[in-house]
Amino acid sequence: MGRSYKHTVVIGASLAGLCAARVLSDVSDRVTLYERDDLPDGPANRAAVPQGRHVHLLMARGAAEFESHFPGLLDAMVADGVPILENRPDCIHFGAAGHVLGTAHRLRSEFTAYVPSRPQLEWQIRRRVLDIANVELVRTGVEEPVYDAAGGAVTGVRLDSGEQVAADLVVDATGRGTRLPAWLQKWGYERPREDVVQVGIGYASQRVQVPDGLLAEKVVVAGASREQPLGIGMLFYEDGVWNVTTFGVGKVEPPSDFAGLCALADEILPAHVAAALRRGTPLGEMSFHKYPASRWRRYDKLERLPAGILPFGDAVVSFNPTFGQGMTMTSLQAGHLRRAVTTPGADVVRACLRDTAKTTFPVWMMNAIGDLTLHRATGPTPWWYKPVGGLFDQFLGAAETDPVLAEWFLRRFSLLDSLYMVPSARLIGRAVRHNMRMWLAERRAGSQSVAVPQSA
Ligand SMILES: Cc1cc2nc3c(=O)[nH]c(=O)nc-3n(C[C@H](O)[C@H](O)[C@H](O)COP(=O)(O)OP(=O)(O)OC[C@H]3O[C@@H](n4cnc5c(N)ncnc54)[C@H](O)[C@@H]3O)c2cc1C
Repeated sequence: MGRSYKHTVVIGASLAGLCAARVLSDVSDRVTLYERDDLPDGPANRAAVPQGRHVHLLMARGAAEFESHFPGLLDAMVADGVPILENRPDCIHFGAAGHVLGTAHRLRSEFTAYVPSRPQLEWQIRRRVLDIANVELVRTGVEEPVYDAAGGAVTGVRLDSGEQVAADLVVDATGRGTRLPAWLQKWGYERPREDVVQVGIGYASQRVQVPDGLLAEKVVVAGASREQPLGIGMLFYEDGVWNVTTFGVGKVEPPSDFAGLCALADEILPAHVAAALRRGTPLGEMSFHKYPASRWRRYDKLERLPAGILPFGDAVVSFNPTFGQGMTMTSLQAGHLRRAVTTPGADVVRACLRDTAKTTFPVWMMNAIGDLTLHRATGPTPWWYKPVGGLFDQFLGAAETDPVLAEWFLRRFSLLDSLYMVPSARLIGRAVRHNMRMWLAERRAGSQSVAVPQSA
């Protein structure tokens, strides 16, 4: 037998809070979710989740994890029009760090990806959580958790109205703007250390209606690179409209209007995609968002923590959004919480934080290497990041024309086979040999093309 609680409270009913409530509903008599923002009765954007207006890529691993917590979710989304990314070569255009991966082939090990918008995914999950008999969602803010100094524990929450509500466990799912570090300090604890990478990302998004038949793709990604600090992510969502997000890294501003967006597309997207966008109709205003830094709050490293409070979701770690991992990593945290509450004798908070640190580490590290060596980010840079970044650049270069390497990358990027982006020695050897062959072929072709005019 694992834990059983009388009453658990979750602050914040966004993706992380909803997942936490789902897990806790199995081990609590009652779960109360508090949400300060207005919650629409359908898949619509919310004021407190401004990122929802920008492209959100759901990784294949995240889809599988969400399905494990909410069986039937994926089929229901498809029934509601969410596109599936089939295993077809023309379905995806994927460029990373200046390399366009060789996706002009079928992946050997098939996997299915889903393309719901952020509001759609949250709405589908919220509906399911609202259907759970012992979960109540209350539309009010939490002012702060109630801390009992004598017991060294959080014992409930104080609502914006001043009312106090008792709880055995309080989950802080208030997102990257969490005030938990300040509350800890106020209660006499240390603030968690923060690992920070200053990525300086600016997002600018425009919904675009593209005439039918012009694009077979459903996902188009052209990531930023060392030479090209601007990127584009385009997803075809359930409402039949493309969400086109342009972004700049290292404080480079993305285009601020549709004309600028099209001009960037001309530069970095395949010609047929850029042409389709030019024939498209922009719908509504452009949305803008600044994301200055990726941030990992190291609660796992704190020696002292009050009992009864668990930070969760983006409140623990917020990843560079251009890599599209946040929701998937949240879904993994839900799995950690489930394991913790069902493991006999486990210290639930510590176990969940420890497992979250274990799954965060490889993803955080690879992002940091990419950001610091290829994307003009600033932050602590161990000496070995540069050579590893260089090797990775080589690997992606080879993956442009070697489908085996491209498939390996796409599966790892989708966080499917492992969270570690570390190719085996055999694959590195393959990448090096491939690049050597390409280089020699280019040299040979170069000397022949020089020879032609001489003999003519
Ligand atoms: C620009 C951008 C693009 C992104 N793109 C992707 C992507 O492509 N793929 C991906 O997987 N992830 C992406 N992410 C990350 C993803 O949005 C988050 O990981 C995901 O939303 C989970 O966040 P969360 O639930 O922890 O917090 P949030 O979504 O930030 O929600 C926090 C909630 O807490 C509520 N709240 C806060 N304080 C209180 C309070 N005191 N009382 C009551 N309620 C409170 C808020 O109203 C809000 O509803 C992106 C993020 C950004 C910023």
